Amino acid sequence: MHQRVDRLRAALAEQDLPAVLVGAPSNRRYLSGFSGSYGWLVVANTDAFILTDSRYRLQSANESPDFSLREIVNPGRAMPDLVKEICGELGINRLGFEASHMSVAEHSRVAAALGDAAELVPTEGLVEGLREIKDAVELAALRQAIAITDEVFEAVAPQLRPDHTESEAAWMIEKAMRERGASSASFSIIVGAGLNAARPHHHPGDEPLGEGRTIVIDMGALVDGYHADLTRTVVLGEPDSRFRAIYDIVLEAEKKAIAGIRPGIFAHEVDALARDHIAAAGYGDCFGHGLGHGVGLDIHEGPSIRWVQPGATSQPLQAGMVTTIEPGIYIPDWGGIRIEDVVLVTENGHEVLSKAVKLR
Ligand code: ZN
Ligand code: ZN
Repeated sequence: MHQRVDRLRAALAEQDLPAVLVGAPSNRRYLSGFSGSYGWLVVANTDAFILTDSRYRLQSANESPDFSLREIVNPGRAMPDLVKEICGELGINRLGFEASHMSVAEHSRVAAALGDAAELVPTEGLVEGLREIKDAVELAALRQAIAITDEVFEAVAPQLRPDHTESEAAWMIEKAMRERGASSASFSIIVGAGLNAARPHHHPGDEPLGEGRTIVIDMGALVDGYHADLTRTVVLGEPDSRFRAIYDIVLEAEKKAIAGIRPGIFAHEVDALARDHIAAAGYGDCFGHGLGHGVGLDIHEGPSIRWVQPGATSQPLQAGMVTTIEPGIYIPDWGGIRIEDVVLVTENGHEVLSKAVKLR
């Protein structure tokens, strides 16, 4: 945690900010270790505070020993009052805040409390930028979440029958993940059968899985706050030749993108490796979403692997980034196929962390 806070301080120094108020739950957890649902951090040059209420007095002391607790008591000592107190003690006259995460109401309360004593300065992506490069502790949690996910797919997929509904399949997966130590599913599991497979984020319902149809299963286990993300497309019974042809295009697109992953390649270039392959096969209009996204304390975080407008650029990948690669082809009157794996960018190239077998 020390190193994470030190890296934040370096980023603050670059923006000439003496302190920042952090409220986004994942950013708060990343910096302090605090996993509770309510709280803020104030990180200054030499001091770091956690602001939470009596429900989390013991937990915050335990999880965040490097942060001094300032207890929120409502009414009387609300978050803005404590922020004002800290700024006064440390002589802070410019305080960064997370523009993407603070509500307008919170902002006006803090601004009112600070008055003329300190200026609130919007920041964007300060902590998110740090989180893109995973450290050893994070990688260990991700590997464990991914291993559970892989194991569950391989255990549950052979048990699926045509008369199971999408919801039943999703529950079998969720239950198996919990049984293997996941704290929960890392997002609402997607099981889309037949025409529902053409909807990338379909919510499972009463549709039976059926035979000879595409079934997209998108799932992940949550371990120590870290999210796995895996998609496999399967068929119960014999897949037809159309399925095989489209499956091979998606799989080849995924392979091409993964083969290109190395430090220095730009995110949009990785996207193009897969997208161009799908377009060349005649399915360019059937792949509407980005190729991938970072995973970590959030299911969707940086880097974003997607196309850019002509003339624009994206960020270069760096060793330590962890991203999904998930090309898909979706055809409304037929179904859909998506294949998704999680890939770590290494010093020399990449390592595919997902190991789940690809059925077809
Ligand atoms: Zn997914
Ligand atoms: Zn994903």
